[in-house]
Amino acid sequence: MEQLLNLIDGEQRPAIGGGWLDVYEPAKGQVYAQLPDSDERDVEAAVDAAHRAFPAWNALGREGRSAAILRLAQAIEDDMEGFVRDESRDNGKPLSLARRVDIPRAVSNFRFFATAILHFPSEAHLMDDVAVNYTDRQPIGVVGAISPWNLPLYLFTWKIAPALAAGNCVVAKPSEVTPLTAYRMGTLCKAAGIPPGVLNIVHGLGPKVGAAITAHPRIPAISFTGGTRTGAEIARVAAPLFKKLSLELGGKNPVLVFADCDFEDMLKTTVRSSFTNQGQICLCGSRILVERSIYTRFRDAFVERVKALTVGDPERGTSDLGAVVSKDHMEKVLAYIDLARTEGGTVLTGGTRVLLDGALKDGWYIAPTVIEGLGPQCRTNQEEIFGPVVTLQPFDDEAEALALANATPYGLASVVWTTDLKRTHRVARALQAGIVWVNCWMVRDLRTPFGGMKQSGVGREGGVEALRFFTEAKNICIKL
Ligand code: NAD
Repeated sequence: MEQLLNLIDGEQRPAIGGGWLDVYEPAKGQVYAQLPDSDERDVEAAVDAAHRAFPAWNALGREGRSAAILRLAQAIEDDMEGFVRDESRDNGKPLSLARRVDIPRAVSNFRFFATAILHFPSEAHLMDDVAVNYTDRQPIGVVGAISPWNLPLYLFTWKIAPALAAGNCVVAKPSEVTPLTAYRMGTLCKAAGIPPGVLNIVHGLGPKVGAAITAHPRIPAISFTGGTRTGAEIARVAAPLFKKLSLELGGKNPVLVFADCDFEDMLKTTVRSSFTNQGQICLCGSRILVERSIYTRFRDAFVERVKALTVGDPERGTSDLGAVVSKDHMEKVLAYIDLARTEGGTVLTGGTRVLLDGALKDGWYIAPTVIEGLGPQCRTNQEEIFGPVVTLQPFDDEAEALALANATPYGLASVVWTTDLKRTHRVARALQAGIVWVNCWMVRDLRTPFGGMKQSGVGREGGVEALRFFTEAKNICIKL
């Protein structure tokens, strides 16, 4: 059985404590690899290596770092099919999705930030004849990156790329549920010319490795993506240490469908925004709000399309949905569907585990599920389910649509379907969400600020926001 290793100081190493954890293949429900069960000693070794590497990495300058990061991007691209297979196997997502989205996006993350740093401006403020101020943005030093399982390499590199480009060294922890592509990337760093200690990857459990990174006094900044509860715990530990924090957390995203929308485009995209990656994207729309005059038409057409989706072998091109990521997660999602029934909801389609044949018979599959008949305050419409489950709610006017949309503690993403330009502006401004997609979904320009309001997070990633996060701004004031 394959044993994955940590990347510390440029070397592939097992955990100091010698322990191993199982890695499962969701499509088969079976263990297929092991990852190091690391602890604070491994984190300590990674922090030491990162601090040793920092002066030379910083001194390389923007162009030197950019060239090294671009080589790593190229190395991943050269091994595209290997990464695609690993990502699908580790996560359960369709191979076609990993090939179309996950791995190309990881390559783009590196390329984007390796070139963005070359154009990262600093400001100057002239005070007439008094003084000139300029802003010197210096790397922080050693930073921590902690990422989740839903878009494993995509989100891992979304943090590592800007951190490295800005001149930091990184101690990074991928999700223990999906460690495979982070490991594979670690094996390419040496040949790509990333100096030892610049990027350290420590595998293991959140409450051990993640907690050790969060509490470490020589890691003054943490970039975290994951659940809101974990984010709260990280904030609790980091606050008295005065760490810089970027928190990208959960969501309960609304999709607002107005009667004047392009119905066919909306329908096709809403199927995607509901069930891509088995609904396990923080940006998926999970509460579909539909203007009452087209509610029945929408419901019937949507349910018909959802019934036509195929849940199956992630390796087959015909599968629209693969497996959900773990047995625990499958049970959690199914428990939410039961809760929806208890709360009075009607399951229009799905609502059950899907059992496949042969080698996939123990895999963790759930039928795409559509529920109606629930009010905005019930738990099903308040709590993040993070699976292939959406609810439908009708609304009568714009004010009610907005009230429903904003009626959760979350504020990550939202989608609006309308052809009315004035309404577009009004609604987009009034939505409590960090991202508003109008007549589209998951269209991503890496220069835009990315993140959530309310319990969906603190801070923004992407573009200059990320480069600013991973640097300390110093105002230098010189008397004229
Ligand atoms: P999670 O919070 O359980 O785990 C995320 C990471 O944190 C993992 O690497 C985990 O090991 C680590 N961790 C766990 N406990 C920790 C602790 N005490 N200290 C430090 N680290 C710890 O989340 P998950 O289940 O892996 O991912 C799903 C969640 O991520 C969902 O809530 C989803 O909405 C959210 N998410 C948000 C975004 C976004 O951009 N806002 C993107 C993707 C996923």
